Amino acid sequence: MIVARAIIVTLLLFVTSARAGDDTQTSAALGSIRELLTDMAAAVESGDIGEYLSHVSPHDPVFLYEQRAWAADLREHPVVGFQLRLVQPEELELSEHAWATGELSMRWRMSERRPWREVRFPARFEAMNDVDGPWFYAGEHWNIVHDERHGAPNRAMALDDQLPAALQIVELMPGVRASVDDMFDVENPREQQLKIYPSMQHLQASIYLSYTEPLGGWNEPGEAIKLLAGDSLRSRGLKRLLAHEYAHAVTFTLGDRATDVDWWVLEGVSEHASDVATTPTDRTDRLMGMWTREGELKAWPQLADFRGEAEAYAIWVYVQGRHMIGYLTERFGDDARNQWLTMMAQGASLEEASGAVFGVSFKQIDADWRTSLEALAPSGGPSPSPN
Ligand SMILES: [Zn+2]
Repeated sequence: MIVARAIIVTLLLFVTSARAGDDTQTSAALGSIRELLTDMAAAVESGDIGEYLSHVSPHDPVFLYEQRAWAADLREHPVVGFQLRLVQPEELELSEHAWATGELSMRWRMSERRPWREVRFPARFEAMNDVDGPWFYAGEHWNIVHDERHGAPNRAMALDDQLPAALQIVELMPGVRASVDDMFDVENPREQQLKIYPSMQHLQASIYLSYTEPLGGWNEPGEAIKLLAGDSLRSRGLKRLLAHEYAHAVTFTLGDRATDVDWWVLEGVSEHASDVATTPTDRTDRLMGMWTREGELKAWPQLADFRGEAEAYAIWVYVQGRHMIGYLTERFGDDARNQWLTMMAQGASLEEASGAVFGVSFKQIDADWRTSLEALAPSGGPSPSPN
């Protein structure tokens, strides 16, 4: 099958492993890489972000961007201990093209009272000129499935046993992108990176060292879509998950204030994109009916701040947000909803954008929406007043 072969050929190009250089070269590289790891660890412990980033390979702009965000978190959350070492230095593999791979252990703790955390992964190091260095840290040594058969390229990146998931992802992404681009009425020819992390701790550590909230996927402006390996990547929910995360990526292209948009709006729009890209069996009506009946609906300001009160109501952020975005789409249409989102991504408040685009205050929209929910809650229970 020609289609399958195109992927596999590309895959092989990237998966070629490092070939051992001669012993002198390997031990020279090993010495330089150990020095690099010592310098990086010292920079992290002292919170010297510039120094740390000077050791990160600039070749992949997405990785460099992720590392900037990773390092910037040290300003707010300094570590009290941080260690990097090659687990089996004698197994460092040196390629003839001045890069090397070896299993890296990263250990850290955020305070004296907290236990050490650790992740291990095959890491990649790159020399600027030849093996004499200087050497740079290039993150995980991914197996890469690159696919540009459908125009906008996708690059799925996996560690060893996640290759089947990476292949499945590049098969699904063209359809997902077409659906989401169409919903947003945009053309997005940019390459989309998708990284599959083998464990929750590894995924969290790739975001910030201080990140401990459970998650299944992650996307921030300029970063790869990050996914947790596991059931969700094997099940029918994969397309939903990809549409959700890719919709975030498209939202971030709408304006430079997109990350400040109310959290329920961001998640609601992404959940709606999943509904459009797939045929959902559960449209959250049952849960919404129950919350309406039992007076459990939240007020929108409670669902606005990712780092604030909304953290306690994450399930409402997704479910209530999804339902409201569906309601707005039905009532005002795709174009108006896109315009509304764009205005907020460019700095307008929820009230400003609602008044300007829908011609109705958000307060009124909320009241109308709550009235519409009565149909889902036939027993006519109480409904909290909006604020
Ligand atoms: Zn999301």
